[in-house]
Amino acid sequence: MARVVITGGAGFLGSHLCDRFIENGDEVIAIDNLITGSADNIAHLFGHPKFKFIHYDITNYTHISGDVHFVLHFASPASPIDYLRLPIQTLKVGSLGTHKMLGLAKEKRARFLLASTSEVYGDPLVHPQPEDYWGNVNPIGLRGVYDEAKRFAEALTMAYHRYHNVDTRIVRIFNTYGPRMRINDGRAIPAFITQALHNEDVTVFGSGLQTRSICYVDDLIEGIFRLLFVDYHEPVNIGNPDEISILDLAKEIIQLCNSKSQIVFKELPEDDPKVRQPDISLARKLLNWEPKVPRQQGLLRTIEYFRSKVG
Ligand code: UDP
Repeated sequence: MARVVITGGAGFLGSHLCDRFIENGDEVIAIDNLITGSADNIAHLFGHPKFKFIHYDITNYTHISGDVHFVLHFASPASPIDYLRLPIQTLKVGSLGTHKMLGLAKEKRARFLLASTSEVYGDPLVHPQPEDYWGNVNPIGLRGVYDEAKRFAEALTMAYHRYHNVDTRIVRIFNTYGPRMRINDGRAIPAFITQALHNEDVTVFGSGLQTRSICYVDDLIEGIFRLLFVDYHEPVNIGNPDEISILDLAKEIIQLCNSKSQIVFKELPEDDPKVRQPDISLARKLLNWEPKVPRQQGLLRTIEYFRSKVG
């Protein structure tokens, strides 16, 4: 049995990770300051003998008593509207927060896993993006607070690995969707589903020809879980290469919701990447993993969740 610390444990991905470790019979300590996470996501775990929740901001010194075997650092605003609203917190959790959690892992001789992001590739000039592509990021753009915080977090993680011998992992997470995404988190999938369920206009930014490649949450969690148990320290892309334009995604969601919504076009946000698709050759080889849930099935499950939330 392992004792696992999960920062951002009340968030979308963090809460699914909590479930995964609890199902595995491990003990989970979830930490979250709830600025973008929600206690609703872990409500079903409260009272479980192996689950503990700490309402805390991990950019401060963090003391955990007893043994810790794994530290999974998932705390961060992760949606463009969140990091535009919370730019300093985003920078702090990626830098100071990562530092504190690496310090905790070093102290406890725990394995550390950093949730990094496809945003480290910025608006990519190489397509699809392999791990050895260094990216095309505007450091002072509005998205820079997230991109640079995560790039710094990766650098710090490698430094702790190289200089302090901390046993580290870095996952670069591509667009992921599924139950427990926040309804108003501003990202394309929650926005489109909520709009479609209300028969409101579906807001496509720009021409809608920009692409994303979307991964159902269960597939992502399985990939991360496997990464934790292989001996590999450099970044690994986890995502689904199934690439779609945002306009086609909007149309598909309208159809799957049986909605009467119309598509309206709005201004494209600054530095919005034009394309994004993970090259997952490394994950396939290293983890014997690949995404299994087809887009339509994943979207239907997600729509069902949103239906139960929006009433
Ligand atoms: N997008 C959109 N309408 C929305 C929200 C997002 O057209 O209501 C676009 C956004 O500009 C981007 C894509 O959908 O091109 C994916 O955005 P999201 O916020 O989901 O994540 P990103 O991949 O940009 O971090």
